[in-house]
Amino acid sequence: MQLYNKYNKEELIQRLHAEDFERTTISFYRYVRIDDPQAFRDELYKEWFELSCFGRIYVAREGINAQMSVPSHYLDNFLQKLDGRPELVNMPIKYAVEDDGKSFYKLTIKVRPKIVADGLDDQAFDVTNVGKHLTAEEFHSHIGDPEVLVVDMRNHYESEIGHFEGAICPEADTFREEIEMVVDQLQEEKDRKILLYCTGGVRCEKASAYLKHHGFQDVNQLHGGIIEYARQIKQLNLESKFIGKNFVFDDRLGESISGDVISHCHQCGRKCDTHTNCANNLCHILFIQCPECAAQYDGCCGDECKTALHAPEEERDLYVKAFQRKFGNRKAFRKGFSQKIEHFDLRYE
Ligand SMILES: [Zn+2]
Ligand SMILES: [Zn+2]
Repeated sequence: MQLYNKYNKEELIQRLHAEDFERTTISFYRYVRIDDPQAFRDELYKEWFELSCFGRIYVAREGINAQMSVPSHYLDNFLQKLDGRPELVNMPIKYAVEDDGKSFYKLTIKVRPKIVADGLDDQAFDVTNVGKHLTAEEFHSHIGDPEVLVVDMRNHYESEIGHFEGAICPEADTFREEIEMVVDQLQEEKDRKILLYCTGGVRCEKASAYLKHHGFQDVNQLHGGIIEYARQIKQLNLESKFIGKNFVFDDRLGESISGDVISHCHQCGRKCDTHTNCANNLCHILFIQCPECAAQYDGCCGDECKTALHAPEEERDLYVKAFQRKFGNRKAFRKGFSQKIEHFDLRYE
């Protein structure tokens, strides 16, 4: 029994598209004590591999955070198996709104120190003293109230393509930066009602506890995040107060919520909300690119990368060295292109 994927990306994507069954894209998380994350991870891998599940899952001593696609005919079976584990029983599952079933093409389960890379020292504050969870409908009813502060807890590249009406969207590259900026910017607002939201709710669990630790009195958070909000307002037949697209951490990169396009191509400025990774693998930066620019630059972020992309095999090493010399490691290069962008694989949600 293998415990890791062995095939290359092209092969896997081909297999995914050749499948003759539907997949359901789901996500869930829980802060729960897991004593042996590696053993737990291996068990999950075996179980979920047998059910042909794909996805990106993080397991830590503090819990689990999962984005996955499950073959629809195995979904009941999958949920039963979750319920069979005390750590995962009665898990609230979020279902994707726009789902073509092609969100993931392999199963990756990683053991990490934390389920979200928040950079916070959990010993320094009470992580269990979280904010009040609001249902989608409750959250919805507060949007537009001038007494209330709505804060987007996601990175800038996420809120750039979609956010709640009137939300504060800090120009942060990482969750750590974001959380410090919010505490800083809202110093004078500690008595106001604060409404936090993120993609699926997991980031707000830590953020709300951190804000309360810093003296914020009335901290609330959107239960289930934007994903659950989008699903529920559809059911309740309410008009979305989330405008634009919800950035998601799978191959879809975003699901449209209101149908509006609020962002622009980073290269030409045309209206566009399609994220892509630079086709030059040395760069791989995440950015917004319109179809015209994608054609002009062959999917690259600029002329430099386009040249590197088409370089003959024997010059490849020269480009690798040139990129390293100029930008150091890959992450530094990505930051160099724009302060706003970071590759989504580096994050845990
Ligand atoms: Zn463009
Ligand atoms: Zn590039």
